[in-house]
Amino acid sequence: MKIVLSETLSYCFGVRKTLDLTERLLAENPERTYYMLGEIVHNELVIEALKSKGLKVVQTLDDVPSGGIVILQSHGSSQRRYRDLRERGLEYVDATCPMVRIIHERIREIEAGGCTPVVIGQVGHEEVQGIVGQVRRALVVRTPEEVTPELFEGIRRAGVVVQSTFVEDDARRVLERIRELVPEVVFQDTICQPTKARQREVELHTRAVDCVIVIGSRRSANTLHLFHIAQKNNPCTHLVDSAESVDGIDVPPDATVFVASGASTPEDLIFEVVRRLETRARDREERPEDGREPRKDRA
Ligand code: SF4
Repeated sequence: MKIVLSETLSYCFGVRKTLDLTERLLAENPERTYYMLGEIVHNELVIEALKSKGLKVVQTLDDVPSGGIVILQSHGSSQRRYRDLRERGLEYVDATCPMVRIIHERIREIEAGGCTPVVIGQVGHEEVQGIVGQVRRALVVRTPEEVTPELFEGIRRAGVVVQSTFVEDDARRVLERIRELVPEVVFQDTICQPTKARQREVELHTRAVDCVIVIGSRRSANTLHLFHIAQKNNPCTHLVDSAESVDGIDVPPDATVFVASGASTPEDLIFEVVRRLETRARDREERPEDGREPRKDRA
């Protein structure tokens, strides 16, 4: 088996920065308790490791006692969350990714400039909630079909930003539809560079290989986007979130396999998956299931 690794594997710099910061704070201040709203990455092993070092994962600020320090994650927070933190007198450390901060600035500028703010993204996603929460009101659309005359009725000027992990082609299609309905549209391409690099690599390499393995969680938006891009190009595409899940995949021992990962997939998991793929290929070469002679004997 030939395994071709994507050049953009494992954490993007935003997730890496948040993880490093969290680990440093936990190590340097053992007398303090740090709280994170939701999961820092969509991976149980990483979460468990941080919990074992003292991190508390909570779902709302109501669960943070006075004296606790809140770590705001890379995907960003609404203005309301910052207000809530101040009103409750809670200390916080802001680990918002610089690329997400740019989106926040852009959407505030759009509103200040008198345009209707529009976000191309997934309704309800934490990053999108944080973006929408920068302004009084914003429209969120994910597909061209969602861009209806009713929704955009009366809008003459719109300013459009995009969720950082959105698929470029999909965003372009949604934008074209908005342009059909709104006379003046200002577009800010806010898909982040790490996302574009991953998506372009997957687009480039997945047609010419026998199989594609995308490693990451099904709850991770950017992982799912990579999976769908690869699946469009190559029907033999699999999404795996553990080394064991490789066992259910039928990859011929002589196949060329392209391996990609989401931006929140730990390096250890990627190596485990690759090792498992290689071990299975070796086993199948030595003990073919179809009754053929083992490859080394045939040579
Ligand atoms: S995916 Fe992009 S915006 Fe999101 S944390 Fe990573 S670098 Fe930042």
